[in-house]
Amino acid sequence: MKGCLDEIEQQRQCAQYQLQAHEVEGNNDETLRFLRDLYARSRRGEDVWDELSNYQKSRKSGVTGPLIKNAFRRFVGALQGNRCCYCRRWLLNIAHAKPIEHVLPRNSYPQFSLQFWNLAVACFDCNQLKKEAVWGSFLPDLPEYPCATAFTEFFHPRFHPYADHVSFERRETNHVSHVTYTGHTPQGEHLCSELLYIIAARENLYRNNPSLAEAVATLQDFQEQHPEGDLPALEAFRSSLNDSLQCQLDDSGLDEWPLKGPEPETRPSRRHAR
Ligand SMILES: [Zn+2]
Repeated sequence: MKGCLDEIEQQRQCAQYQLQAHEVEGNNDETLRFLRDLYARSRRGEDVWDELSNYQKSRKSGVTGPLIKNAFRRFVGALQGNRCCYCRRWLLNIAHAKPIEHVLPRNSYPQFSLQFWNLAVACFDCNQLKKEAVWGSFLPDLPEYPCATAFTEFFHPRFHPYADHVSFERRETNHVSHVTYTGHTPQGEHLCSELLYIIAARENLYRNNPSLAEAVATLQDFQEQHPEGDLPALEAFRSSLNDSLQCQLDDSGLDEWPLKGPEPETRPSRRHAR
């Protein structure tokens, strides 16, 4: 079925992951045993994500939470062409800059906190924007993870081939750059209207402001030199910077609507994200 991953491809990805669950092949079996135990607990409604993240985290090798997450990032990041699952910008080669995204957020759906299909790799900005947002109308106590064809209301980065749903265009000259996203399906249009138009507006703002672009690049360079979890203050600063950009964009809107906020009932849907 076009626009949706078929069963054969899903089985192929599961089988492939089981061979790559740890960067050291000899640790694969122990990793999978550990993940199966955690997964069984998550299915009873326990959010096990922090436990995974902290597992043996002081160790530099062997079966540890950070190494399991790194192997997952590498596996799913490769499926995504090393680009963010939502905005398709390149993922930087640091854990900070490519958080693992819970498609159905773990706060609302703890039973899927370790569900293989519920996890993708996003960029810092998309992950922050999407984090707790509940898209679609799946009930919080849903017992089983919905099948691929059930995701009709929003874009699912593991089940929906990106190009079938969204296209993007980046134009750069010596002095300016401009990005647009266009949704081609109801799921793609939803992604544009909920998230991508903000990403595009921010990028267009700071890319065309050389001193701001330089400052953001400096922050990213600094982050690259530090391992995951070491820079909570810097992450908080980047989050505040994004909020500040947001305010500037909200204030500059020609249509008098904030870029992100409660949707007025009369607001037309934004099919194109610019
Ligand atoms: Zn992104």
